[in-house]
Amino acid sequence: MSVLAVTEHRRGELRTPSFEVITAGRDLADALGDDLHLAVIGGDVDAFAADLNREGVDVIHTVDEGEEFNHDVYTQAVTALAENLDPAALLMPNTVNGLDYAPAVADRLDRPLVTDAVAFDHDGTLAVTREQYGGKVETTLDVDAAEIALTIRPAEWPAAEGDGDAEVTAFDVDIDESAVRSDVTGFEEVGSGDVDITEADVLVSIGRGIEEEENLPLVETLADALGATLSSSRPIVDNGWLPKNRQVGQSGKVVTPDVYIAIGISGAVQHVAGMKGSDTIIAINTDPNAPIMDIADYAIVDDLFDVVPELIEEFGGQVPS
Ligand code: FAD
Repeated sequence: MSVLAVTEHRRGELRTPSFEVITAGRDLADALGDDLHLAVIGGDVDAFAADLNREGVDVIHTVDEGEEFNHDVYTQAVTALAENLDPAALLMPNTVNGLDYAPAVADRLDRPLVTDAVAFDHDGTLAVTREQYGGKVETTLDVDAAEIALTIRPAEWPAAEGDGDAEVTAFDVDIDESAVRSDVTGFEEVGSGDVDITEADVLVSIGRGIEEEENLPLVETLADALGATLSSSRPIVDNGWLPKNRQVGQSGKVVTPDVYIAIGISGAVQHVAGMKGSDTIIAINTDPNAPIMDIADYAIVDDLFDVVPELIEEFGGQVPS
């Protein structure tokens, strides 16, 4: 028996959750005393396999089918590989793509599926932790470690590092083309010329403390001065001040930048769910007891309308009038 983890890519790049499922998969494989197998499906599978060859990976299965993610191809390929390997645990990222095919695969394999796992513990039985009600309630499920499918929440396990010496092997799947019902014909970015906040190294994130839309240029100028990308908490998006793709959190994007600067953000559980994996968290908030302070590495307890202009000047920017 083994552990099989499925990776993902988009537009020629492996996505960060691919490296996190390696860490989660290795943890589980260690607990079970098993090998860790990876699957990489579609795109430049050889280049992807070379990049995925990290410490702790035993075997990488490449499935040379298609260029981009396709629900039907992934469902068929992962099902076929899992039927062939019969892994104890099958791990998939809890991402838009992962959630698209994981239930179909679990159904075909007739396995229970636990989605959005944030931790697991193996002590005889496998205990999988999930969060509910926006992180207010934690549930632990005892499952059969010998036959389970799991989706792994992004940013809960660190990305795997270190070079590995995995065996890379091609896996041929006889894809039933008549059951492939969709095709990727192109990509269109959401919003006019907007950015992907999940790819940013530094995020300047703004919350309700900014008070009015007219004050946004202040934080935009700080972001420019730092070479950072602007993101926000949900109220800013709900007010229509920034597009939805800038929202960090449970109902927004999960981000893992090197530096996350939370300005006028209280740190509600739904927000923290999207940014707690950031390397360094800096909070600017007038309230020393705001929940964001519990996870901040550095904090400035002061009025953002005093602090931000000083930071802009410090980093060579021009404070908007
Ligand atoms: P507030 O909680 O109002 O905090 C504002 C902060 O600014 C306060 O801490 C205050 O002390 C500080 N402040 C005020 N003035 C200043 C000043 N002049 N200088 C410095 N600091 C100042 N939220 C998300 O962000 N992302 C999500 O994805 C998300 N999903 C949700 C999903 C569900 C199902 C639900 C129920 C809620 C969700 N929320 C989400 C909303 C979440 O519960 C909070 O309401 C929201 O995160 C609060 O945003 P905020 O921190 O900007 O505002």
